[in-house]
Amino acid sequence: MKSNTVKIGDTLIGGGFPVAVQTMWKSPLSGEIGVILSGIEELKDIGADIIRFAVPDIEDAEILSKISKKSVIPLVADIHFDYKIALKCIKGGVHKIRINPGNIGASWKVEEVVRAAADCNVPIRVGVNGGSLPSSFRDLKDISEAMVKAAEMELNVFEKLKFKDVVFSLKSSDIESTVMANTVFSSRYSYPLHLGVTEAGPLIPGIVKSSIALNTMLKDNIGDTIRVSLSDTMRNEVIAGKEILKAAGKISSGITTISCPRCGRASFNTHEFLNSVDSTLQKINKNITIAVMGCIVNGPGEARHADLGITGSGDNIVIFRKGKIVKRANPSEAVRLFLEELREI
Ligand code: SF4
Repeated sequence: MKSNTVKIGDTLIGGGFPVAVQTMWKSPLSGEIGVILSGIEELKDIGADIIRFAVPDIEDAEILSKISKKSVIPLVADIHFDYKIALKCIKGGVHKIRINPGNIGASWKVEEVVRAAADCNVPIRVGVNGGSLPSSFRDLKDISEAMVKAAEMELNVFEKLKFKDVVFSLKSSDIESTVMANTVFSSRYSYPLHLGVTEAGPLIPGIVKSSIALNTMLKDNIGDTIRVSLSDTMRNEVIAGKEILKAAGKISSGITTISCPRCGRASFNTHEFLNSVDSTLQKINKNITIAVMGCIVNGPGEARHADLGITGSGDNIVIFRKGKIVKRANPSEAVRLFLEELREI
């Protein structure tokens, strides 16, 4: 089922718009606003579309409102329990809020928040988490069924209030229940879905779990925004999210890298080279394939379809385009010459 379109700041999600990559700010909302704004810009440069912030108190709501006015991408306030924080964020210009009506409490408080959100065109995300389900669903054996029921309970509140700009997430730390819950929910409702495996783990296990779960859903056209929740940096969450979308065929922009894993034949340190150029590559939006190969024996041949490639042959560096050698140089010039060629492309 095609999802509804929801506007978050200037960004449209759902309704066939590109799947957006999210991350969550990993520090408290204290310190210099300018430093946070620079951090947001850096994350945007490598592909973040939306960033969520935990807003545990009213002072944080004030800070996030100030930041939202200057942010280059939409920001989301994640609020639990206190409806006054939600009101402050909505009226302060934060672009989206995440609340669960169930933990806001009295229905008049929820109504007040929803009315303010409607007045200010601020969408609301409801986040159902398999690890913190409402008590009435905790005894259900099937966790995915419990998650869907919890989401439907929250949804009733919005439907009664005729508020349509709702995004849902149904996350669990388990792949199967995450996929099942989202599959069932998306077959019944057209609200946009934010996908993720919650608390997915450290860098490598977290990316593996997230990739399997997200790809299963994305290939069925489920999901409008994603987050790879890692015990790691925001930067890596964004890069992983972008790579998952690329591998799932949801975006075609950005660098695709073919690179040598290294073997005894290697005469070029591909790992070191990739580390040196990584920050530049992450900022490129153009659809370009690069090959970073370890030896002249297999390098150009293996990377024949790459737009730009590099490999080493003893003390010589060889740069090639579409598998044909276009430049030979000294190893100390490798990074500079490669980036020069890349700029030309
Ligand atoms: S490109 Fe060359 S060095 Fe790298 S793995 Fe293949 S054969 Fe080995």
